[in-house]
Amino acid sequence: MTTLTMPQTDPNATDPGLTTPFVSVALPISVDQTFTYALPEAMRGKVWPGQRVVVHFGRGNRTAIGWVVGGLETTDVANVKTVAELVDAEPLLTPDLLDLAFWMSRYYVTPIGQVFDAILPAAVKKNAGFKTVQIVVRSEKAESEVDRILSKQRRVLDRLAESEGTPLGPRELARQAGCTVAVIKSLAEKGLVEIITREVTDFARDLFIELEEPKAIHLNAEQALALQRIKNQIVADKFGVILLQGVTGSGKTEVYLRAIADVVAAGRQAIVLVPEIALTPQTIRRFRERFAQVAILHSDLTDAERHRQWRDIRQGRADVVIGARSAVFAPVQDLGLIVIDEEHENSFKQDTSPRYHARDVAIMRASLVGVPVVLGSATPSLESYQNVRAIGHYQEARLNQRVGGRPLPPVHIIDMRQEAVERKGQHTLSRALEKAIGEAWRKQEQVILFLNRRGFSTHLFCVKCGHVAKCPDCDVGLTYHTKPGVLQCHYCGHQEPPPERCPACSAETINYWGTGTQRVEEEMRQKFPDIRLGRMDADAMRQRGGHASLLSAFRDGEVDVLLGTQMVAKGLDFPNVTVVGVVNADVALSLPDFRANERTFQLITQVAGRTGRGPKGGEVFVQTFQPEHLTIQLAAKHDYEAFAQDELATRKARGYPPFGRLARILVRSQSHQKAHEAIQVLAGRLIEPARIVGVQILGPQACPIAKISRFWRYHILLKAPSAKALLHLWDMARDDLAPPGNIQMAIDVDPQSTL
Ligand code: ADP
Ligand code: ZN
Repeated sequence: MTTLTMPQTDPNATDPGLTTPFVSVALPISVDQTFTYALPEAMRGKVWPGQRVVVHFGRGNRTAIGWVVGGLETTDVANVKTVAELVDAEPLLTPDLLDLAFWMSRYYVTPIGQVFDAILPAAVKKNAGFKTVQIVVRSEKAESEVDRILSKQRRVLDRLAESEGTPLGPRELARQAGCTVAVIKSLAEKGLVEIITREVTDFARDLFIELEEPKAIHLNAEQALALQRIKNQIVADKFGVILLQGVTGSGKTEVYLRAIADVVAAGRQAIVLVPEIALTPQTIRRFRERFAQVAILHSDLTDAERHRQWRDIRQGRADVVIGARSAVFAPVQDLGLIVIDEEHENSFKQDTSPRYHARDVAIMRASLVGVPVVLGSATPSLESYQNVRAIGHYQEARLNQRVGGRPLPPVHIIDMRQEAVERKGQHTLSRALEKAIGEAWRKQEQVILFLNRRGFSTHLFCVKCGHVAKCPDCDVGLTYHTKPGVLQCHYCGHQEPPPERCPACSAETINYWGTGTQRVEEEMRQKFPDIRLGRMDADAMRQRGGHASLLSAFRDGEVDVLLGTQMVAKGLDFPNVTVVGVVNADVALSLPDFRANERTFQLITQVAGRTGRGPKGGEVFVQTFQPEHLTIQLAAKHDYEAFAQDELATRKARGYPPFGRLARILVRSQSHQKAHEAIQVLAGRLIEPARIVGVQILGPQACPIAKISRFWRYHILLKAPSAKALLHLWDMARDDLAPPGNIQMAIDVDPQSTL
């Protein structure tokens, strides 16, 4: 095992550990402070910041697991308690992660102990997949004294000699030698055997992926230039952000791979963050082909697997870590570079406390360590774009061409209003898209159909009285799912049988409206009975590994049409896909959220990017009821620049990010009245501090989704001119932010959604 004492400044120096009489400890509680404990003599020099300890906390004999964050020479705490035990023999977190945790605690207004808890994977806390066992081994002394030993003890020693290689625990050994455990213990006391504790793993599934010989790739001029820019920053060995804006299929990943190779060659490690759904075997394969030691952290791993990967990273057996959001906390020893692919993705934002954005956390971590960050995207977030253009904080590198000089695919906007007028019956697929699917199939080419809604029908309503089927526990409409034919709430999972009559007026005029992936699937099967179709959405992909096996079937040509939600929209690179259909572009556009346009633009661009990747080219069909909408028009022209300019103007006029910052304070209660009162109280308390720091309070008001899982939801939006203003507000209003009357409260800084 490599040594786990963390180098602080000189990577070759080992830190001696804390020898102070006291330590400060963070505990996973909702109070944002650290606590002082005395460090017993015996533990001095054996404790490092980032290590877990057991301490007494609260009344009686209650204990808690806390994190040592630093040493203290003195304390004025009366009756200071003593650290009871060490949980781990080494610190689990590196020094930069400790600093990062404190930044997160302040920026995301989350108690420090809770931040530590979020940084360490649950699988590590549970010690998943590893257990400690005791095994008995003969000591050297046994060799010389074995002849003078009594018969029972002799049998034990002989048995041990015979079993060379197979570790035996005390019990098993006693059984085999036909004696009691006491005999073994007395041997141990005489020093003839040793009972040692060893950690074993029951880790089974191998993360092996079949590799191919990587093709020799010569970078094109744009790629070479982009790589040079990144390399310069790596050589300068200091913090800096480079936004790599490259159209889909422009070879961004190839650029990352080369930059990472430099970092790895210098003996340092790289972290690559990709959206969960882009973490496909295809992506992993590309990294495994180039680098010998690649650790992978994604949600499809079992706890044991995740723990194993994490240990590999911690103990220096990973040069490259690829993972989703939480991989930003990978405990690498000598970080050299962070890459965030698809940096605009909102899945990088965590939606439980601490509500961090992995891109922003990555940038902060890189700045603490002093290394470069590469942000890659075809459609950068407006925040990142603004950081390049207006502020000049970031450097820019552009890939305007697809590799091999392939053109971006033409995008046809299909006016679904006209389809409805000119065509009988309900069709989710337009004539143009249908025709293109049929033609592609005849030529043995492949198709991707995208719809960001699962289920069959998304609205159920009575034509006579207008009653809408809603979840009893949420302020959300129910979705009809075929197989097994139920209405389902996509927020809380509530299910009920579909009504035969309107529950409000008893008329038999229930109408099923709105299209989900299941309806498209059914229509496809009717219209193209011979086409082999694979559906990829959360319903169809419940099984571990299902996602990977459908993708490999598609890749091998065993599936002709891939239909699905976000899962099919991103990162896939299949040259035989010549038709892409966006079944309904209006879904994202109609969300009551200030990022609705940006999301729509990103989605259309991403989905369109799945075609035209091979010599056969490709075409995109975007179906919409709002064909004149500027966002859709510009997405169809692949005109990111014009979109960004237009959207920035709107944001500026309204003071929304990237002009200033938003934060959201949300309260939840099963009592409608309590939720309402609490938000009023909070708003009242914030008025004065907000005025002083120049932060505007919007609301309070009910959230756009007013109830989820029986909890009523109210919020306040805070509009701040800068991140600094918000930090001032939190500092000033610290005591005012305690939730009134035991109510559930959440603070979301830089919210990605305000529903
Ligand atoms: P992006 O990440 O921008 O979508 P990728 O890096 O995935 O693009 O590249 C798309 C495909 O083109 C991949 O199969 C990759 O191996 C290939 N590729 C990348 N750069 C080149 C190049 N310079 N010459 C030939 N093929 C390339
Ligand atoms: Zn519900």
